[in-house]
Order: sequence, then structure tokens, then C-alpha cells
Amino acid sequence: MSQTNAVDKMDKTIKVFPLDKDTEGKHLRNDGLQESSILEDYQINWSQKLGAGISGPVRVCMKKTTQERFALKVLLDRPKARNEVRLHMLCSAHSNIVQIAEVYANSVQFPHESTPRARLLIVMEMMEGGELFHRISQHRHFTEKQASQVTKQIALALQHCHSLNIAHRDLKPENLLFKDNSLDAPVKLCDFGFAKIDQGDLMTPQFTPYYVAPQVLEAQRRHQKEKSGIIPTSPTPYTYNKSCDLWSLGVIIYVMLCGYPPFYSKHHSRTIPKDMRKKIMTGSFEFPEEEWSQISEMAKDIVRKLLKVKPEERLTIEGVLEHPWLNSTEALDNILPSAQMMMDKAVVAGIQQAHAEQLANMRIQDLKVNLKPLNVVNNPILRKRKLLGRK
Ligand code: ADP
Repeated sequence: MSQTNAVDKMDKTIKVFPLDKDTEGKHLRNDGLQESSILEDYQINWSQKLGAGISGPVRVCMKKTTQERFALKVLLDRPKARNEVRLHMLCSAHSNIVQIAEVYANSVQFPHESTPRARLLIVMEMMEGGELFHRISQHRHFTEKQASQVTKQIALALQHCHSLNIAHRDLKPENLLFKDNSLDAPVKLCDFGFAKIDQGDLMTPQFTPYYVAPQVLEAQRRHQKEKSGIIPTSPTPYTYNKSCDLWSLGVIIYVMLCGYPPFYSKHHSRTIPKDMRKKIMTGSFEFPEEEWSQISEMAKDIVRKLLKVKPEERLTIEGVLEHPWLNSTEALDNILPSAQMMMDKAVVAGIQQAHAEQLANMRIQDLKVNLKPLNVVNNPILRKRKLLGRK
């Protein structure tokens, strides 16, 4: 069967239609969501996958009137998905945040389902350049200057979210996408699946371990002790806030510069291993000479100031944007070891695999506490570091 025929066949087995207003449609309020069928406006390629997260693959669709390509994310229509759409729409006007074109509330039945289900179909601008680390791995000469320019764009995206009092809470390389295949292309933040309005009450631990901030771990520790009755439930719960995004930014900068994460463990565990937890809680990390000797002091300084255990000592997003590393007139044309590491396909696959496993293990319900396992055994980065003899 030709590929086109296979796609046509697939398209025909997936049913998409407007919600039946008498049944499912009764909960729908018009929140800027389209209630007509998406198929009137877009042709969907169900078989091409751009990337996959916890909610399933993101696909490609084409606007019938302009032939323009878009990315399509399909979510079950639940309050959490509505929240994601609402917060993403609120932030979407910024040039470093993936733009939402439109959102449909339709009934969709996939081949394995016996009945159609109410779903939200988010049509987004297409980020042809793909994920941050993948793009870096395609360029042999990724310099410190380019890393600083990428960082500036991530920081501008965060500044916009934080100015709206929205914490993203899942800042990681898979959620940072390049508009096209050049390293000068705009970088944009996507996936508001864990975003929350920060009212000083962010007490639900939601994170991926490599990027988790100490105060998030502390919130989780207390939450578990309260749940098991070891400590009484506090009338004023321990909270963390938008500064956890800045911790994640520190980790991302570190990885972008050297190619491995600042906090890691040699031990495979379903939860964050004790040694890794201790390193995060005490902010213990190093700049090993082999990779860091050529990297500027300014870069190390911003990493140190972001990886501060106490949120109040951590740089704010304004502090990041004012930092010399992002505003330097120095050439910073040293080629980073990270690109070399990421050129090793096994290393890139390792990062993706570890993250995919973490995502697969994430719980969707907002109130559940969950730590995603780190597959250390199959993670080539960690294996490589182990071979290099580091602790
Ligand atoms: P989830 O919430 O299920 O984790 P994401 O929104 O993170 O889903 O998307 C999963 C992956 O799909 C991303 O990591 C990326 O690779 C790809 N993707 C998401 N949005 C786009 C887009 N607008 N353009 C291109 N690829 C995208």
C-alpha cells in the first residue's frame, strides 16, 4: 500500500465531528473554542508525529484555505486540559511562546475506542526546527554566544509568563522548540500542561527530576509526611513559586553548555535517588575542568546564581535578563562540548529516552504527588559520565 493510501485509510478510521450539544456539549461554554468540526478547516495527518508527550503525539495538520502547516495537540476535554488551553492562550501572544492559532472542542473517536470522546484540538504554529537538544546536535559548531542567545529567548518567554503571574513548572529542553532548522531561528516555549497561576500556593509537586528545584522537593516531602500522618497537616501549607522555573533554567543552561546535567545519580530508582536528592537540596554541583575550562566565568556565574537552593537568593527573571552573560559584547565564540556530546546519537537518544520515561510516568491529576523514575541504567549520558570516572 502506498504511503498516501495508508494515511487516507488511517484518516477514515478516525471520526471527528462537532460535539452533540444535547449530551456532551452541555458543559461547553464558549471560551473562544470553536465548536464546528476541525475537519471543515483543516486536513489532519494522523500518522505523522512531531513529538510525543504524556497526552499522546502532537501531529501535523494543514489549513485548507492557505495550505499552511500547523501542529495539532489533542487532549481529552477535562478541566486540566481546559486550564492548559486557557493559560497557554493567555501567554501565546509573546514571540518566544508557541502561538495558538485556534482550539476546537470536538468529538473524536480513535480506532481503538468504542465511542467518541469529547476532546480539545489545539492548533499551534508549526515549529519545524524541533526540540532544543536535537537542533543543537545538528550543528557542529554550537558556540557559547549561541547558547547565551538561546537562553535570552527562553528568559524572555519566562518573563512574559511570570509578568502574567503564571508559573510554567515544566521547563525542559523538550518544551523549547526552534522555529526552523537554523540555530538563529526563534526559540519558543510550549506545553502549558503543568502551568499554574502563582498565587503563592503552588504546593502540588509537578516536575521532572533533572530539572526539579529544592523547594519543590521540600513541598513533596512535607506533603507525603502530612498524608501519612507523620506530621500534622499545616494550616498554611508549604509553598513554592515561580522561582522554580528559574532553577530549571539554570539546569538547562548547564546542560546546554557542557552536555550533561548538574545533578545526577548512578543509582536506578523509582523515585529520586537519595544521593541525587541530597545534591539538589544542598545545591552541590561542579564545573568539571574537562568541559568547563573553556567556558566563560560569566556563564558559570549565571548558573551559580540560578542554582541557589534558597529561592530568595536565586536570580529573578529580571536579574537573568540583566546578567552580563546575556548582554556581553565579548565574542564568546568558543565551541561548546555539549554539541559534541549531543552529536553522539546514543547520548541524544538517552536524554530523550530518560525524558520520555519521566513523561510517561507523570500523573495527570493535579493533586497526586509523583516522582518520575530516572532510567540511569539505559541513560548513555550517565553511563558516559560513569566511564569518565566521575561521582
Ligand atoms: P505533552 O503535554 O503531551 O507533553 P507537548 O506539548 O510537550 O505534549 O508536546 C510534545 C512534543 O511534541 C514536544 O516535545 C515537541 O517535540 C512536539 N511539539 C509540540 N508542539 C509542537 C509545535 N507547535 N511544533 C512542532 N512540534 C511540536
